[in-house]
Amino acid sequence: MRVVVFSGAGISAESGMPTFRDEDDGLWSRYDPYEVSSIDGWNRNPELVWGWYLWHQQLASRIEPNSGHRAIGDWEQHVDVQVVTQNVDDLHERAGSSIVHHVHGDMFVFRCTACTKPYTEPLPQLTEPVLELAPPVCECGGLIRPDVVWFGEDLPEVPWNAAIEAIDNADVLVVVGTSGVVYPAAGLPERALAQGKTVVEINPEETPLTAKATVSLRTTASAALPGMAQRLPFLLG
Ligand code: ZN
Repeated sequence: MRVVVFSGAGISAESGMPTFRDEDDGLWSRYDPYEVSSIDGWNRNPELVWGWYLWHQQLASRIEPNSGHRAIGDWEQHVDVQVVTQNVDDLHERAGSSIVHHVHGDMFVFRCTACTKPYTEPLPQLTEPVLELAPPVCECGGLIRPDVVWFGEDLPEVPWNAAIEAIDNADVLVVVGTSGVVYPAAGLPERALAQGKTVVEINPEETPLTAKATVSLRTTASAALPGMAQRLPFLLG
């Protein structure tokens, strides 16, 4: 049995990770979330975007994977599992998942905007959020940015192609904590359905996928995933 898990912001939110859409910090609440999650926003004000990312990266490193992440990690003891995630945090990896395709990038990886060279110098440790912070500068003079996908940018080819391949080879797709509205990633469950695959959705709320999924559970990742192998025995067949 080959299982692919396709995850979105909901599973990270259950660990306490704030999302772009939350007004989580008074500091940024007067800004449109688009300003810290788009290439336009970066071009207008890289200091604002860098301050937001550095703080949120440090928040992400302090939160822990939840029982949903851990259940997915544990499935590897029984079946072939790959994770395709829209999340830019590392909670799946820290919960034991060994193959994770980050289709929207990775907030712990940095690169130059001009020459694309990876940036691995130590970053300032913040004790409180800072509204605007100058990003580091590459030796070529370009600004350093997080290696994440912003609105207005294409998805990185390598993880995207790996995600497609994983889904094409899967028997079951488990879709967790994603509203299914941000394309092209939202097209991945549709691709699996078109191939006649079993698609299991876990989301406390109905989504555009709910009516089409083979099974759709109205609950959270941390509630559903730990007992799911018992509830849906085909999963770990
Ligand atoms: Zn450079």
